[in-house]
Amino acid sequence: MKPRIAVHKFSSCDGCQLAFLNLGETLLQLAQLVDIVHFAEAGPVAESEHVDVAFVEGSISTAHDLARIQQVRAHATWLVTIGACATAGGVQALRGLADAKAWMHAVYASPEYIDTLATSTPIARHVKVDLELWGCPVNGRQVLGALRALLSGVMPPEEEDKVCLECKRRQHVCVMVAHGSPCMGPVTRTGCGALCPSFGRDCYGCYGPAENLNTRSLSHWLEGLGLAREEVARRYLFINNGAPAFRQAGLEATGDGDD
Ligand code: SF4
Ligand code: SF4
Repeated sequence: MKPRIAVHKFSSCDGCQLAFLNLGETLLQLAQLVDIVHFAEAGPVAESEHVDVAFVEGSISTAHDLARIQQVRAHATWLVTIGACATAGGVQALRGLADAKAWMHAVYASPEYIDTLATSTPIARHVKVDLELWGCPVNGRQVLGALRALLSGVMPPEEEDKVCLECKRRQHVCVMVAHGSPCMGPVTRTGCGALCPSFGRDCYGCYGPAENLNTRSLSHWLEGLGLAREEVARRYLFINNGAPAFRQAGLEATGDGDD
């Protein structure tokens, strides 16, 4: 019997599910090796079937999400979060730093129809997660590597190095030193292959916090490049604002998290 997998969507933009769809021919090969039991964006719908690996995109933002994630966990041997929304709460976790109700009234013409929680939280806050894949979005190489490892009975190695290290390995010119760009590479985990610096762009931290990060040092550097404290805070309080190390650094930059 072939291994069975599912791809579930919670509160998200669908970009991480595209990491599967963008595999192209490889996805067709994958479909011959595993049974894709549930993947609403691609066709099959069978959310209550038991699977070996359940990939989960998106954060917990509604009461319906809260109930569904328990069912997904109950029907999966391994649960893998894919992307910043599922792993850290996503950009929508910013509502946890604000008056969510006031935001709702500011954004929607008829807020009485919106049924949402006041927070957006990562999947691991609610159920056991076996593996977290970071990125906004994740890439196909990560997803396939994780699936191959899990189905072979091992956990894939965690990529916690900094984007800076990846730049050095690939001999990219440092955009911070050479161009004065406010790059988040010194505190961001790799996994993307230092994609943005390879095009001369600064990293904006979409893979979340790296190991052994020194956000205070980076914040001083960013201020030295001319960023106001508010702008430094926004570099952290963005896609991965719900990751504790980035949230703390962002609040420190605004003065709210100072010791
Ligand atoms: S992590 Fe980024 S790409 Fe993935 S679903 Fe969330 S917003 Fe979309
Ligand atoms: S360089 Fe940074 S922002 Fe760009 S893809 Fe990699 S982690 Fe994301």
